[in-house]
Amino acid sequence: MQESVLLNVGFFTKSYVVLVCVCGVHLIVALLFYLTESPTKFTNHFFTSQKTNRIDALLVLNDNWTAETYMNKLINTNASKDDVEEPTESCPETSPLLVGPMRVEFSELVNLDMVRKDNPHLVMGGRYKPSDCVALQKVALIIPFRKRDEHLKYWLHHLHPILQRQQLDYGIYVIEQDGEETFNRAKLLNVGYVEALKEYDYDCFIFSDVDIIPMDDRNTYKCSSQPRHLSVSMDKFGFRLPYKQYFGGVSAMSKQQFQRINGFPNNYWGWGGEDDDIFNRLMFKGMKISRPSGDIGKCRMIRHSRDKKNEPNPQRFKRISHTRQTMNTDGIISVKYEVINTEKDQLYTKIKVDIGKP
Ligand code: BGC
Repeated sequence: MQESVLLNVGFFTKSYVVLVCVCGVHLIVALLFYLTESPTKFTNHFFTSQKTNRIDALLVLNDNWTAETYMNKLINTNASKDDVEEPTESCPETSPLLVGPMRVEFSELVNLDMVRKDNPHLVMGGRYKPSDCVALQKVALIIPFRKRDEHLKYWLHHLHPILQRQQLDYGIYVIEQDGEETFNRAKLLNVGYVEALKEYDYDCFIFSDVDIIPMDDRNTYKCSSQPRHLSVSMDKFGFRLPYKQYFGGVSAMSKQQFQRINGFPNNYWGWGGEDDDIFNRLMFKGMKISRPSGDIGKCRMIRHSRDKKNEPNPQRFKRISHTRQTMNTDGIISVKYEVINTEKDQLYTKIKVDIGKP
């Protein structure tokens, strides 16, 4: 009896030793396998597993993670840019990241360093694209500009997070009129169109005044099958259209729509009329204006006094009445300008241009 108990104990001890040995061998084999794997493959695996998490998983490893540190990581780990998998699936028609109505205030102090910190995923030039899906449109945002730095700060502060939530592949182009001649909004927009296309194959163009901020991120800064007017319910006009044909403030046009109307007029110097001319062009080419609902299209305009050298243009009424005769010769095909300099910031590309004078 005692002997058989001893025999059993001996049997279990031996089995235990065998089991430990098997586990040890398994551990060594696994270790050898990992050590002989190429470092690139390992890095790849590291990035891929991080990528599955959310919108910018690549960029959320820590709070200070920027495009620059990401590039450094690639360099330090011997990996190449191609090792970072590009998403293959399209983003959804409606972004799941939208929040709807937003409070828009201009009382808070905003500075550009703060905006840069708040938008760490931007790439030089004010460029962004979602990392977990392929954006449905490549959108260039064009802002005509002169001496409105205060407004630009607010615009960038509000718009960058909205555009990222809208899952757009976008770039910001601030087109600054050089010199002190009378302002020409539409010509600056034409310049923005040409310059943006030199950089990237944009298929949609948003033309936005620097002082207009949307109050609902469901008002997507994207193009539709018809030209789209986005600033449909501005506080300045009591949250309604000032008139049915109004096409000012913020509008969206695909490359094809813009080309069909030969872009915008180049000869509206001073305030007013150029947006009515654009509206006429669209009508003469048989297009319709698409708009969001008044609720979703709400926006605020930053209050300001009239700019110097942008007085109401007395010739605007005459010009608007001749759109049909002028639109084929005056437009994107005839725009002439000279680039003075280009500034690339994390938040925008600013192009200073000489567009001549009236
Ligand atoms: C002008 C437009 C302007 C609109 C609203 C019209 O009289 O021609 O350019 O956008 O008023 O202010």
